[in-house]
Amino acid sequence: MKEITILASDTLRDALQLLDRSARGILVMTGTDGGVLRTITDGDIRRMLLNGAALEDDLATLPQKTPVTAPDTTSRAGMLELLDQHRIDHLPVVDATGRLVDLQDRKSLSQRIFLSAPHMGDAEREFVEQAFETNWIAPIGPNVDAFEQEICAMLGIRAAAALSSGSAALHLAMRLLNVGTGDVVFCSSLTFIASANPILYQGAEPVFIDSEPDSWNMSPAALERALEDARRAGKLPKAILIVNLYGQSADMDPLMALADAYGVPVIEDAAESLGATYKGRNSGTIGHLGVFSFNGNKIITTSGGGMLVSEDADMIQRARFLSTQAREPALHYEHKEIGYNYRMSNILAGIGRGQLQVLGKRVAARRALFDTYRARLGHIDGLSWMAEPDWSYSNRWLSVCLLDPARMSKSPLAVMQALSDEMIEARPVWKPLHRQPVFEGCRYYTHSNESTSDRFFETGICLPSGSNMTDADVDRIIDTLCATME
Ligand SMILES: *Cc1c(COP(=O)(O)O)cnc(C)c1O
Repeated sequence: MKEITILASDTLRDALQLLDRSARGILVMTGTDGGVLRTITDGDIRRMLLNGAALEDDLATLPQKTPVTAPDTTSRAGMLELLDQHRIDHLPVVDATGRLVDLQDRKSLSQRIFLSAPHMGDAEREFVEQAFETNWIAPIGPNVDAFEQEICAMLGIRAAAALSSGSAALHLAMRLLNVGTGDVVFCSSLTFIASANPILYQGAEPVFIDSEPDSWNMSPAALERALEDARRAGKLPKAILIVNLYGQSADMDPLMALADAYGVPVIEDAAESLGATYKGRNSGTIGHLGVFSFNGNKIITTSGGGMLVSEDADMIQRARFLSTQAREPALHYEHKEIGYNYRMSNILAGIGRGQLQVLGKRVAARRALFDTYRARLGHIDGLSWMAEPDWSYSNRWLSVCLLDPARMSKSPLAVMQALSDEMIEARPVWKPLHRQPVFEGCRYYTHSNESTSDRFFETGICLPSGSNMTDADVDRIIDTLCATME
């Protein structure tokens, strides 16, 4: 505070020296009791000098001009509102007795903390520049091929097709498994709608399966009942779409055993779980087809993109064919079936190659952040965390907590509002798809008498989880949570 406060008895020279040292362009004049009298800018001093004042004159001749101040209990959003209202960029903050305790400015106040922001490494730019230098500005080229090979090598899987999005990969997976009009596809209910949309693109009917409480992912018990019912009705699903939520694998062994017993292929939606493992195996490589997303908010990003992987290289070859408008190998562009424009750009694949080099670091950073949250908020009664079963190594794409309504007076909505007031982005847990208006009337199998996904949705919060947040960001989030929930 000393750096920016000045008294009426100080001189113009004092003020100019202080302005020069603090480099904030503004000072606050206080009384000897610390009360705020006015703000002083470079311009105020300049005008005094032009009006004939001397450097050794004191500041007492400046007219009194009580400035807008904010009580130190005001939220960030509240302070920004004051700035807007009064068309100013600086705001002295005062305590209950009116003493100056802080000087806020627009730039630092408007620093928003995002849920999951992109985090570039060092190599992305170089790969992109190579693409420019060689003029491979197309959905084909050396970065695309290399990105696929590098993903295969990293995951230990045979084949991969780089695509324009995770959604495109899911849609192609449906096509590869011949999902069509009138077919049924089983799908995790607790997920982003992108998991289920391609079922509808293909004119098929989704049946939603609940989560089990340990991994938050597809419940083997619910899947078994759904499969039994389907067999009894004489219509098995064409595919089972298992989501690995928030970076954590589903309990794949019992799920795959059931799928194999009924002869139904599995699509593993690993859009959120690149870098995670299940019993030491890479998430996304256990189902018959695996899907990854490189959307801007995922653990690594190409700004937008996806990957379809499989041990079945023929399937992946066909995915490439379908993703390039199903063009037959004829000079005149022959087409025997309907395809899509789903291939990844060679420029974006360059970003992906750079990002892949730092994936391990990103996973480590997100896991460390989760540990920090858990340690520093551990004293809050009624707060618990998304568990990690002993067979799981989660990438902790998002740090997710649960608020027990029986032990906590604040609702998740109230906590998210408090975070939002501090310009911190947080989100509820995915609204289960069986509750989405667009899927009204679809069947749903719960884990037990209770619907686990509904409980997670009603009591959960996804906290900011970016791997490039500063310590100050993390402090701000944790301070806000403590102030709200303690
Ligand atoms: C992000 C996401 C997708 C879709 O990926 P896009 O690349 O955004 O199309 C699909 N499923 C889940 C679970 C996701 O989180």
